[in-house]
Amino acid sequence: MNIHILKVTSVIIIICGLFIYYKSCVQPDILTYNVQVDRNNPYQAKISVDTSSLKEIKLLQPRTINQNEKTKFMIACDKQRATPLNEELIVRCDQISWNIDFKAPLINGEDASQQNNLFIDQPEPLWLLQEGISLPRIINQNEMQVCINDGRVSRCKPFPTAQQPPLIMGFSHQNTEYEFENFKIIMFGDIEPKHAQNLLQKYNIIVSYLISVFPHDNRKKVWDLICLPIERSSGAVGGAAGYNGFVANYPVESGVFTKQSEEWLLRISAHEIIHVVTSLNNPIWIEESLAEYYAFKITEKLGVVNINPYYILDKHGSKIPHANRGLYYAEKQFKESKDMSFYPLFYIKGAAFWHAIDLALQDKEGSLDDYIRELEGLNYDDGKLPEKFEIMLRQAVTAPVWDKIKEVYLLDSSSVTQNK
Ligand SMILES: [Zn+2]
Repeated sequence: MNIHILKVTSVIIIICGLFIYYKSCVQPDILTYNVQVDRNNPYQAKISVDTSSLKEIKLLQPRTINQNEKTKFMIACDKQRATPLNEELIVRCDQISWNIDFKAPLINGEDASQQNNLFIDQPEPLWLLQEGISLPRIINQNEMQVCINDGRVSRCKPFPTAQQPPLIMGFSHQNTEYEFENFKIIMFGDIEPKHAQNLLQKYNIIVSYLISVFPHDNRKKVWDLICLPIERSSGAVGGAAGYNGFVANYPVESGVFTKQSEEWLLRISAHEIIHVVTSLNNPIWIEESLAEYYAFKITEKLGVVNINPYYILDKHGSKIPHANRGLYYAEKQFKESKDMSFYPLFYIKGAAFWHAIDLALQDKEGSLDDYIRELEGLNYDDGKLPEKFEIMLRQAVTAPVWDKIKEVYLLDSSSVTQNK
């Protein structure tokens, strides 16, 4: 499972993946999932796939985060009556089709971590499509795309492979686009233009900085950012990210965009941008903890966030599952059992680990920024930091400092402590 959702009050935890570039027009030679939406009946959509070029079809249930709440798909093959999706069945059809539902957000806002297909009608109709509850996978087909069409406009994105995080996709006639040197952000949601422009300008600084720190490739990428307001009083702020897009809550006060709304959106976005930008192939604890740490670091530099990973660890560290475990143990357990309860540790303890290293390097007039590129091409033994990298850091911060940080964060410790 490549999508990960967690909800912690006042801490947004997001996972995401690497991204690919976007194809803006229908490519007739690849298998296309056509999602037909209709403004007059916006809460339902029909999905059809022209499968006439395939000798046989075998369908898999969509990847969903909640295995207990699998949607029951009724699939129609050509003109035949729809039957429940059967993963054992092999059929030959010229076309397959099924229906999906979209729901309206709750009155206080929709928790983004709930992963629903949403239809939001103000100010412009906006559909949010989630692979996990919408798109059964045709197996043995790697190159596929998903196109949403309302009769006036069609928008397509590649269908991620089963090894990639699931698709999250927005569709609206109204969005704000921002072109960067090697990728583009398409922002969906009801954010006033002055706030949206302000956010996008800050993205420019965020992206420039992150590109200077993280090794990256130069392929063009397009990233959907779907912003969902949620009343602060609801106590829930969440996010979910997929292969080439993510959906993020931002807290509002009686519907009003506040300084805090900006802070949340920028921090989540910075985290996601790191996944977009980096070409590092890190173990999951490093992938997520570095993204989380640098999200703090850049938003602090921008002056929009005044808390740091130590504060988060202090406030939430003892409440998260496996709080006393080290990151190496968490990585191993997660890899073996895919136990999602280890995930908060990657963010909270992981970000604090990099914060500790960065401060120790800064004490020696260095910066973690100068070391990130050193991770490129190194081998990870059992998810641990590469030996070469560890030696480098140890030399830079001195052995006693390194050993202490390693003991507190990476190895199992008896209590959550900090290296302030
Ligand atoms: Zn992430």
